[in-house]
Amino acid sequence: MHSSDTLTLLAPLSGPIVPIESVPDAVFADKVVGDGISIDPTTQTLLAPCDATVTQLHAARHAITLSAAGGVEIMIHVGIDTVGLKGEGFTARVKQGDKVSAGQALLEFDADHLLHKAPSLLTQVIVLSGETSVIVERARGTARAGVSHLMTVGPRRKAREDAPRAPSASEAGASRPPPRATVGVTSAVVVVPNPHGLHARPAAVLANEAKSFAADISVELAGRNANAKSVVALMNLGAGPGAELRIVASGSEAARAVGRLVELVRSGLGEDLSAAPGPDAPAPAKAAAPRASDDPRRFLGVSAAPGLAIGPVCKIDPLAAAVEEHGDDTEVELARLQKALMHTRIELKQLVATSGKRVEQAQIFSAHLTMLDDPEIITRAEVAIVEGKSAAFAWREAVMSSYRELARQSNPLLAARANDVRDVGGRALRHLAGGDDAQAVPAGSLVVAETLTPSEVVRLEGQGAAGLVSVLGGTTSHAAILARSLGVPYLVGAPASLLATPAGATAVLDADAAALLLHPTEAELDAYRGRLGARQALRAKQEAAASERAVTRDGVHVAVLANIASAADARKAVRLGAEGVGLLRTELMFFDRETAPTEADQTAAYQEIADALGDRPLVIRTLDVGGDKPLSYMPLPAEDNPLLGIRGLRIGALHPTILRSQLRAILKTRAPAGHRVLLPMVASLEELREARRVLEEERQRAGSPKVELGVMVEVPSVAIQADQFAAEVDFFSIGTNDLTQYTLAMDRTHPRLAGRHDALHPAVLRLIDATVQAARRRERHVGICGAVASDPDAVAVLIGLGVTELSVSVQAMPEVKSKIRELDAGKCRELARAALEMGTAGEVRALLSPGARPG
Ligand code: PEP
Ligand code: MG
Repeated sequence: MHSSDTLTLLAPLSGPIVPIESVPDAVFADKVVGDGISIDPTTQTLLAPCDATVTQLHAARHAITLSAAGGVEIMIHVGIDTVGLKGEGFTARVKQGDKVSAGQALLEFDADHLLHKAPSLLTQVIVLSGETSVIVERARGTARAGVSHLMTVGPRRKAREDAPRAPSASEAGASRPPPRATVGVTSAVVVVPNPHGLHARPAAVLANEAKSFAADISVELAGRNANAKSVVALMNLGAGPGAELRIVASGSEAARAVGRLVELVRSGLGEDLSAAPGPDAPAPAKAAAPRASDDPRRFLGVSAAPGLAIGPVCKIDPLAAAVEEHGDDTEVELARLQKALMHTRIELKQLVATSGKRVEQAQIFSAHLTMLDDPEIITRAEVAIVEGKSAAFAWREAVMSSYRELARQSNPLLAARANDVRDVGGRALRHLAGGDDAQAVPAGSLVVAETLTPSEVVRLEGQGAAGLVSVLGGTTSHAAILARSLGVPYLVGAPASLLATPAGATAVLDADAAALLLHPTEAELDAYRGRLGARQALRAKQEAAASERAVTRDGVHVAVLANIASAADARKAVRLGAEGVGLLRTELMFFDRETAPTEADQTAAYQEIADALGDRPLVIRTLDVGGDKPLSYMPLPAEDNPLLGIRGLRIGALHPTILRSQLRAILKTRAPAGHRVLLPMVASLEELREARRVLEEERQRAGSPKVELGVMVEVPSVAIQADQFAAEVDFFSIGTNDLTQYTLAMDRTHPRLAGRHDALHPAVLRLIDATVQAARRRERHVGICGAVASDPDAVAVLIGLGVTELSVSVQAMPEVKSKIRELDAGKCRELARAALEMGTAGEVRALLSPGARPG
């Protein structure tokens, strides 16, 4: 298939061949991703079009990227808008890194299913390496999978075949290579009509159009000029609404270029001027700034994990990766840079192509593609390489200087784009610096990031981070749950401006007060150190008493159990005084893997936990994924509202083998004090009955003894029908995280709603009350395992509602126990009665504030 320097691609599918321009998706039709050919498939097995290596298999399995001889990179994208199917209807036959031969099956798809769910089956075969390869021949008519030729790809001949030359410093900021000026053309004044001026998107449109002309083109504003082919240079002009520009061009096509660009600027550069917000409209904020502070050093957010920490700020930022300053041979470093840019380009193109209906996401990555190719940044980097720097160092410096220039802009929209430059710069740097995402942080630092994933929280805690701050994220996100269980203070919803803080600046994270204080004075530091010392002493006292039972002053025993996810958690829980495990979140064992754990894997994991607990009881919850907890290897249907769709127990109906194998693994576990099965996200009695039937079937088959079966009270319907449920369950566990989410219709991970997603809302308290009353009437056991149980301020009201079992994060156990010992259950009941009559969560919190609390 590969003759001298051309590569022939076989048709990966049978079916009529369709020109790429006719594909009903602008991303493909406009060749944003690259040139190619589409096939309307009549077969359902996608074959490799040539010998190649699988460089990427999208998690949704609808798109695959291959790297073939001669540096040809090909992407095959099955169907239109199929990313949203999240793998449903697709079966992969290969994995990333596999070497495949022409004609080998890559993946299979269920055409009937796809046609029901996606607008079209048209499958695009795209050449991603358009900078170096070009389609020299294309087939027409009907393709035959694995037999007929679809296209021939050859090397793109350079316009100028003279030897590549390193740029000179004086070329930095100019387009590369600038054609000789023959005739200069300057436009009349053209006024920027865009309400936010020449911000990123219109600048990208202008730069892209300018790049399609051979002419050397610049844009002038008030005596300054910018390379029209550089989106960064255009943004740096700072052209606001009404700015008066001139387009200047020289070289071939100069006049045509000026005419076209003037017309484009006048028309708004692709922005819908009628729909654009007025000049007074606020810049779109990236995330919540929940409350404002008068002190510019004080950044307010929402407390996701309590605590106090003092330390230097450390930002998780790929641009901060350690790189060698000095490079090897200039040619080698230049080639390294080109290769990294090429890989980044392919990665971004894939992200655009696989964004499906997420138009905003596609636009952001398209803008990143333009920034990546920015001649200003690339030339700066090349100049530094010629001066002896390594490609990684040179690239980082070039990105950082563009970043700093943009961040200085007074127009907030332009300044906000500085972060995009960092983002795309960091993406390329990862390819230059070895592709390692995981950046080590110094022990004792306060980590500031745009967002943190659950695995990052675990890694950072392991590295000794003293505290965490993120701009995005909610208080009941899994990252927050882990931070609480690990005892690391965590502030979410911090203002995005915090990301501009220089690394190393001293700060105090007072997560209890939901604030981060930058540059504290010596007096402030002394005060915080004093508080920290007092907290540590109090904590030591609480831990010393942790193994004692928690009994209120008037003699009511409240069992304090632990919420855990692993055997390590179980051991820590025992050390910190757990009377058992009230919630084993089994899903965490299913994350961060390529395939589901086997039944034997699961049994071993549950057994290790049961052994660690000894004679303490264990509640094992069946898999709770979907919603905010997707699994890469488990195809779930595309959802418009994932939190209201197939999640929790509903997945058991869709994937019965997974539920059955988990139930068998639980039944095989030997727990001396017995173990119980807990079902997540139950909304109706039918779901409970079906799960009970399956459990009973597996139990009888295995000949195991009876196990108790309970439901999470997470959906209001269960609390409302608690009487009926109580007749059919052995126990209840109230999951206030989801119960609050579904009662208040507030996404639990939404940063802007984090401050209002409060389980002490009287509506939620009434549902807890209804559940506890119903359980009591039927003599059913009831506990609370949502995050509210770990909130020492909330304990009084929960006890007052009659709850005698709290399952809390491991770290919170000693403090919750000590809080219980300070309370009087009788007074708590009065407090709870008053709380049920309150109108808002704020009023309930006020009732619980110091001074108002029952003692
Ligand atoms: C809850 O929803 O309160 C709960 C404990 O479950 P999870 O946080 O795992 O969804
Ligand atoms: Mg839940």
